[in-house]
Amino acid sequence: MKATSFVRKTLGTENQEPPAAHSPGETTTTFAKKPKLAGAKPHKRDIPEGIWTKCKKCSNMIYDRELDANLKVCPKCGFHFPISARERIHTLVETCSFEENDASMESVDVLNFTGPSSYVAKLEQYKKSTSLKDAVCTGIGRIGRHRVALGVMDFGFLGGSMGSVVGERLTRLIESATARSLPLIIVSTSGGARMYEGMFSLMQMAKTCGALAYHAKSRLPYLSVLTDPTMAGVMASFATVGDLILAEPGAMIGFAGPRVIKDTTQAELPPGFQTAEFLLEHGLIDAIVPRTELKTRLCFYLDYLMESREPRAANGK
Ligand SMILES: [Zn+2]
Repeated sequence: MKATSFVRKTLGTENQEPPAAHSPGETTTTFAKKPKLAGAKPHKRDIPEGIWTKCKKCSNMIYDRELDANLKVCPKCGFHFPISARERIHTLVETCSFEENDASMESVDVLNFTGPSSYVAKLEQYKKSTSLKDAVCTGIGRIGRHRVALGVMDFGFLGGSMGSVVGERLTRLIESATARSLPLIIVSTSGGARMYEGMFSLMQMAKTCGALAYHAKSRLPYLSVLTDPTMAGVMASFATVGDLILAEPGAMIGFAGPRVIKDTTQAELPPGFQTAEFLLEHGLIDAIVPRTELKTRLCFYLDYLMESREPRAANGK
């Protein structure tokens, strides 16, 4: 018995097989095959998960600490990895300056949605995996010397879809920016309106844009930052009505997906269709800004756009 387990250890396969409970015959069969596997195993162990990440674009292995230090942008090819809302806020605002609003607001299953899994079950699942209560974080923070109203979406929560809570949190953020004479920045990433909420999610498109119209009427700037991907209902509402529309390199931005458009129009789509670079060329967005430069560029734009308002903002608190 002891001799058998010792032999197994040297082959490095004790994790795969429960010890003992095999007939002697079976043990011998596995025995003969094992030396072949022994060569492949240590190879996998060279790249333990959580230390190295393989770049999806250039396939280089990047040390995770290096990737984090570079704001999750591949140092070799510039590929922008997805980033959570909290990580994004951390990269943009001054330390400890961000105060989150409406953090306790949660979605309700108004339609009693049933499908392969219920809406309530989905919400619970994503709350656990992201530690967020919905797909957007909103609040007031400081970027450089400017106080700003900042909303950041998180694709990790149900594909960044816009339901009632996303719409309501953003609307309250915009209204608060108008009331306090603050510039507004929204970083979007979304698959579109949330199907689990049907018409209620579509109504958020009009609601957010209505609030933005009042913000614009007060002659306050709104900077919209589009990240990969920004699609459908979000793209067709608040994300594309910014005074300045910025995008991250390589971001997919569009309304319907390319396959749907291709099937509907029965035409070949041009190369690079629906990428940030394509849309910059065709005038939909104003600039492509790499994540590592985003904070500096936002400061630069805010300096320019808020210059005339700053004395009034300072007096009026
Ligand atoms: Zn790369």
